[in-house]
Amino acid sequence: MRDLVPDPGPELLRGLGASAGTAVGPAYRLADPPRLPAPRPVGDPEAEVQRAWAAIDAVCADISRRADAAADATSGEILRVQAALAGDRTLRDGVAQAVRAGHEAPHAVAAILAGHRSALLAAGGLLAARAADLDDLRDRVVAHCLGLPMPTLPDPGCPFVLVAVDLAPADAALLDPARVLAVVTSAGSFVSHTAILARARGLPTVVACGRALEIADGTVVTVDGTTGRVSVGSGEDYTPISAPPTAPAAEHRGQTSDGHPVALLANIGCAAELTGVAVEGVGLFRTELLFQHHIDPPTLAEQVQEYAQVFAAMPDRQVIVRTLDAGSDKPLPFLREHDEPNPALGIRGLRVARRRGDILRTQISAIAAAARESRARVAVMAPMVTTVAEAAEFTALCRDAGLPTVGVMIEVPAAAVRAAEILQTVDFLSVGTNDLSQYAFAADRRSGELADLLDPWQPALLSLIALCAAAGVAVGRPVGVCGEAAADPAFAVVLTGLGVTSLSMSPTAIPAVRAALAAHTVEECRAAAQQALAAGDPATARAAVTRI
Ligand code: PEP
Ligand code: MG
Repeated sequence: MRDLVPDPGPELLRGLGASAGTAVGPAYRLADPPRLPAPRPVGDPEAEVQRAWAAIDAVCADISRRADAAADATSGEILRVQAALAGDRTLRDGVAQAVRAGHEAPHAVAAILAGHRSALLAAGGLLAARAADLDDLRDRVVAHCLGLPMPTLPDPGCPFVLVAVDLAPADAALLDPARVLAVVTSAGSFVSHTAILARARGLPTVVACGRALEIADGTVVTVDGTTGRVSVGSGEDYTPISAPPTAPAAEHRGQTSDGHPVALLANIGCAAELTGVAVEGVGLFRTELLFQHHIDPPTLAEQVQEYAQVFAAMPDRQVIVRTLDAGSDKPLPFLREHDEPNPALGIRGLRVARRRGDILRTQISAIAAAARESRARVAVMAPMVTTVAEAAEFTALCRDAGLPTVGVMIEVPAAAVRAAEILQTVDFLSVGTNDLSQYAFAADRRSGELADLLDPWQPALLSLIALCAAAGVAVGRPVGVCGEAAADPAFAVVLTGLGVTSLSMSPTAIPAVRAALAAHTVEECRAAAQQALAAGDPATARAAVTRI
């Protein structure tokens, strides 16, 4: 007899895909931080100040030790910045003042850091993404004041999916791919430390998943870090595995089953992300991630050193360096924009050069200098280009500096509809579907509520990409896609059918995309593209393509 109560099936939670790839496993939540005890009067304020300072010093020393022992450069740098925050004079002074005003050490620390946290949240963007660093600092100092251990990662005895509000740098730096299969956080953003470090380790990650904390410990979940979906209770066939998926074992080129080549490239933020991965090249080197902690603009020498590390990892291979994409969701401390009512529509990406041409010129000189000393095939491209004139000006600047291969990103619909004209001045285009969706659909890319509009299978987005690809085919110049959508294997088939020549994604996503392309002829890809373009909505487009 059939069950009278139908099985409701897996429940789907939505967030933002922050690190591509999928993983299945039991979910376990990061332990709660220490609770503040009920306030009591302070007997000896000066002794209490010393207690607070001793706790701050101990935490600062502990974080510095972790920074020195960090497994990779990204983690080390992030922890060093956190240690610097802990050692900042204003924190000690503020805490002393609060204690002398009658607050016990843990309460004083919590109050002062709460003030700094509100300021960061009010600043928005990248600075707001640093709020978790202060929360972690507070928890560590409070735990130390109270003589309690700090909460650490769960240890269920098998690899697991880590669920948390957000991860502090100290926790994120400990993410060991041998133990943690994927990460889901209820807070965070694409640029939070959780996302940066998870990407560096190739861990599928979904952030800003509002209902993540409702997942009960031990429930098997499927995490899709590409689409931002978490399906809960979906792993009936799940058997615990003892080792995480490995990075692609050998390099081989992307192509359809009948040999039509499509370069499969990596999206990276620093050289460490290339360790141990075999890729054809780098399609998007997000240089702003290197400098997000800098108070002052990075010097020419600092930049040359950073770029040279990436180029050295890619001898004889292509590396497309994107010039600083600052502003809006990626504010840089040394490029603070003021008085902008709507930063996403303001001075961001290449537009920063309107005010700070010196920063762009220094960066281009640094890329050129590092390229001269390397064997990588270095190309450079600008983010957020809107007009043909902007593309022409950028190209001239780069060529004058000795960089022969210059392209622009297509992220603004105005640029997409003029792709053919832009291609008369540049060598290649790279479509950034994350921002192109945001601007074409007037939908904030960080909004979980508008995820349906930001679906890359939206026919209007496909039409814009098709315009760019056709413009490239017409003049025989490369048109790549480097937005997150390129990591969706079925979508990659469609993009190939549209005439896109390269796909750039998180390195961990490449094997699945390679396999999807290898399973179809180029004619089948073209048929898939036509079906997707003809569909009236994303679901129909997806369904039509999976039937091919
Ligand atoms: C994009 O917008 O699609 C893109 C690749 O750039 P970013 O995500 O860094 O804005
Ligand atoms: Mg972008």
